[in-house]
Order: sequence, then structure tokens, then C-alpha cells
Amino acid sequence: MKTIGLLGGMSWESTVGYYRAINEGVKNNLGGLHSAKIAMYSVDFDQVEKLQHKGDWGGTARILSEAAQCVESAGADFLLICTNTMHKVAPEIEKAIKIPVLHIADATAEVLLHKGIKTVGLLGTAFTMEKDFYKGRLSEKYGLNVLVPNKEDRQIVHKIIYQELCLGKIQADSKAEYLRIIDLLANKGAEAVILGCTEIGMLVNQNDTKVKLFDTTAIHAEKAVEYAI
Ligand code: GLU
Repeated sequence: MKTIGLLGGMSWESTVGYYRAINEGVKNNLGGLHSAKIAMYSVDFDQVEKLQHKGDWGGTARILSEAAQCVESAGADFLLICTNTMHKVAPEIEKAIKIPVLHIADATAEVLLHKGIKTVGLLGTAFTMEKDFYKGRLSEKYGLNVLVPNKEDRQIVHKIIYQELCLGKIQADSKAEYLRIIDLLANKGAEAVILGCTEIGMLVNQNDTKVKLFDTTAIHAEKAVEYAI
């Protein structure tokens, strides 16, 4: 079994989900007392979040590249960046290490294509919904037609992530807002919706809606298990 490298803490609330999903995946595949071999570096998210919102992506890249080097030195065979948003600096992180990075958008796109989905809604931080590193990768590399909410709804989705979900707050009114926005995306033609932020699965899941949901935390964790064993 390969050792899985995790770059976590963004936020730690969702890293807990990765840790559980990866270990459950290994246990389901290998049985008994098997558990995942993991080397993790968990950053202080306050620092990263401040740099993101200042637009200092170079600063975030430096923090995450150093953390990734620690994970590599700890014996990881490959790396997962446990956040969709910080894949914005995935190319810089990849340059700083020798082990491969399993990109969260690639893992997600492969599952969508396998299910025959062509038009998909995307929920995530404003960075993920608006910048090209994610949306562009899904459309240019995989030919997916990606729909995002309107500006006002993007702000709602973004605010709930940083002011509630990353702090572990789960609120009924926010869940209702997400479900409203998911329905709007489906009405605009989305055959499914990507939960493109690793905390969204804490707020909504497949039991809450008829619209098919693809949770990037679950997909990314599953990919890691597959790769490790
Ligand atoms: N975990 C989130 C994501 O998947 C947002 C937190 C962050 O900015 O990294 O995008």
C-alpha cells in the first residue's frame, strides 16, 4: 500500500472528512484492521484565508509548497491538496515536489464523464466558481459544460463557506439557500451539481435533493484509496 500525503487544514473541518473517508475506503477494500498509511501536514487556515482574500496567491503558494515538501519528506508517495480552492496554486506546489499531485478537478471530471454527464452545475468558493483553474479545467480538459449561480447567489454560497462551514456551523437557513441554488442550476439545465468545496457535504447531501450531487471530498478520497492500494 502506498502512503497517502494530505495537505489539510483548509479547513480542518473538511480534513476530518478526508481522514475518515480514506480510512473507511481502505478498510472496505482490505478488510480487518487495515487502515490507510497517511502523512499529513495541516496548515493554519487563518493565514491562508487572509492571503486568499488579499489576492496574494504567491503567498499561499509558498506556504503550501513548504508544507508539501514536509509531506514528501515524511514518506508520502503522492499528494492530495484537501481543498478545491487551493488547487489555484497546484502548479506551483507540483513544481516544489517530486511526488505526483492527484488533482481534485481531474478526479471529479473522470467520475462525471463515466456517468455520462455533459452539463454540470458548480458550487464552491467564489474563487472556484469564477477563476479558470477549476471551471476552465473542467471545460477545456474534459469538454464539460459548467454552469455557476448568478453573482448574488455566488456571494451567498461563498459567505456560507467561510463564515459558517469552515467554522463547523451548520444552519438550516443556509441549507435551504443551497438547495434553492441547486434547484436553480438544475432548472438552467445542469444534469448534476458538483459540491466543489470540501465542506459543502457537511451541509447538504444526496438525501436532501433529487438533483444528482457529486461531492468532491468523497470523490477525491476514493481516488486516493484506489491509487494507494
Ligand atoms: N475547503 C474549501 C474548498 O474546497 C474552501 C476553503 C479554502 O479556501 O481552501 O474550496
